[in-house]
Amino acid sequence: MEMTTPALAVDKLAYRYPDGTVALCDVGFQIAAGECVGLLGPNGSGKSTLLLHLNGILPDKPGSAGTVSVQGELIATANLETIRRQVGLMFQDPDDQLFCATVEEDVAFGPSQLGLPKEVVAERVRSALAQVGLTGYERRTPYHLSQGEKRRACLAGVLACEPSILVLDEPTSGLDPRGRREFMALLREVPATKLIATHDLEMVVEMCPRSIILDGGKVVADGSTMELLDNEELMLAHGLERPHSLHHLRIDEPFFWKPPQQPGR
Ligand code: ADP
Repeated sequence: MEMTTPALAVDKLAYRYPDGTVALCDVGFQIAAGECVGLLGPNGSGKSTLLLHLNGILPDKPGSAGTVSVQGELIATANLETIRRQVGLMFQDPDDQLFCATVEEDVAFGPSQLGLPKEVVAERVRSALAQVGLTGYERRTPYHLSQGEKRRACLAGVLACEPSILVLDEPTSGLDPRGRREFMALLREVPATKLIATHDLEMVVEMCPRSIILDGGKVVADGSTMELLDNEELMLAHGLERPHSLHHLRIDEPFFWKPPQQPGR
């Protein structure tokens, strides 16, 4: 049997915050290269804490146990730089990610940190801005952008580092329907392996063939998005709900309009 190294492997990961709060407990899963996986769960279930572990923001800390490997390489303080080249994390709040005076500087920040030559950084910034449709926004102030533009600027900053794994925390929150659609279309074009933490279950139905559900810091389900999200009992038990788009699958339900029976001729 051919063994391929998973893009991401999490094994028996546990984390307790300094105040004693247990945020993750025995979390384990693997993601193959090219997968797009939804990470679901109610508020406080541990999604953000898990995402922070995936690019080593909380590595080797007291309170941590277990391992995270990226392309087969264990995350540890010694190789954090390599890991951060491979895993691009987009924060939940764009204002946490955009802190420079201009869009151009913000998008250049990541690749500059990677120690790339100036010309390479400039080319990556140009290309990332084009990819997210923000060409011409170079000199704009991130602070004054619309919510959708801010999200796209954040994505450009992450893409400019050319990560093989893209980790997104609530990428559609705060977007209006058009902004949300545009952002989803952009994400689809990115060939990286993706893990998307979100409450936007309709996006998950459209974009993620597989989902992982966290609750109380544990993985409570991992499998086909259609099967998990269509399981009303499972969804309600973990503070979620079955997306409306899946309702059409259940034509036996009382709210579903059925044509009146035609009398036989
Ligand atoms: P989610 O992203 O799913 O909402 P989080 O990872 O933010 O979940 O939180 C998981 C648990 O850890 C929650 O009980 C939350 O209250 C707790 N928590 C999050 N951040 C901190 C922190 N800095 N200090 C203490 N507890 C925290």
